[in-house]
Amino acid sequence: RALIAVDTAAQTGEEIYYYQDGEDEEHLERLQIIDELKQALVADDGQLFMTYQPKLNLINQQIDKVESLIRWKRTNGDWVSPELFIDLAEQSGLIVELTQWVVATVVKQVSNWLSEGLTMKAAINVSAQDIADDGFLPHLKQVLLDNNVPAQLITVELTERDMIENEAKGIAVLKALKALGVMISLDDYGVGQTSLGRLKMLPIDELKLDKVFILKLDESHQDQCIVHSTITLGHQLGFCVVAEGVENQPSLTLLQDMQCDYAQGYHLSRPLTATDFSDWLGRYHEVG
Ligand code: C2E
Ligand code: MG
Ligand code: MG
Ligand code: MG
Repeated sequence: RALIAVDTAAQTGEEIYYYQDGEDEEHLERLQIIDELKQALVADDGQLFMTYQPKLNLINQQIDKVESLIRWKRTNGDWVSPELFIDLAEQSGLIVELTQWVVATVVKQVSNWLSEGLTMKAAINVSAQDIADDGFLPHLKQVLLDNNVPAQLITVELTERDMIENEAKGIAVLKALKALGVMISLDDYGVGQTSLGRLKMLPIDELKLDKVFILKLDESHQDQCIVHSTITLGHQLGFCVVAEGVENQPSLTLLQDMQCDYAQGYHLSRPLTATDFSDWLGRYHEVG
């Protein structure tokens, strides 16, 4: 059964709790999802788990980074898409707790990889509220310390919208993250509101071109122009440029020709559990 779409624009974080029982089935379902999400976080019983999608280094053809992406399979067997439950978690404030769980889980995984002799950078998606939360940085620091993971192996991915919310504080936190050694990545670049002037101000290391420009890159002259000029701009500003949503070989070849630094997408691999990722990586190395 497909879950109902969420109308984010009409919602604020507080409002969601005001709906009365029976008033509106959709809102009830949202309340129920938030409640179940809260329980799933506390239980940590495998309903929530992380997947990892490789980012291919186009300069040396190595896999040295992954993006972590959360998955949720409810106890009733339904899959809930992250687009939907991350949105609900943001509206209800649960995102802070959820991100703490993600940070702990991913850092532990990076530490496990290190103990297997594998140095793998991992990106974590965070929201504006995480950056605004005073506990975020100390928690991350502590988790890195507890797991003996160098901050250099962690990247934080934020969208333009997340960066613009509460900009002054956001930039200060991002600078503190960078000072720690964490890399900052601007996610979904090109579909938000970042002016070129603001791009210059943001303390970022990586630019991730939104997949809308990449999915049909091989077929669209316009996308090719946009992508090529953004890669050039990104490089001139000193950023690493990543393309997400690479679904076919012609697009990958184009990105390579355009000197894009990293490619990520179904053509390479879907997001995988840690176990499946290890197997995939083994096969990738065998094929060479
Ligand atoms: P995102 O961070 O921009 O992640 C990229 C999305 O594109 C992921 O969707 C990924 O599975 C999908 N994708 C990757 N390659 C391809 C491709 O070749 N073609 C297509 N069509 N899609 C591709 P996913 O996993 O459903 O996540 C959606 C969004 O949910 C993410 O967008 C991110 O904003 C959010 N999200 C996911 N996991 C987390 C998390 O742990 N924490 C937070 N705060 N947000 C998360
Ligand atoms: Mg991302
Ligand atoms: Mg993205
Ligand atoms: Mg996104």
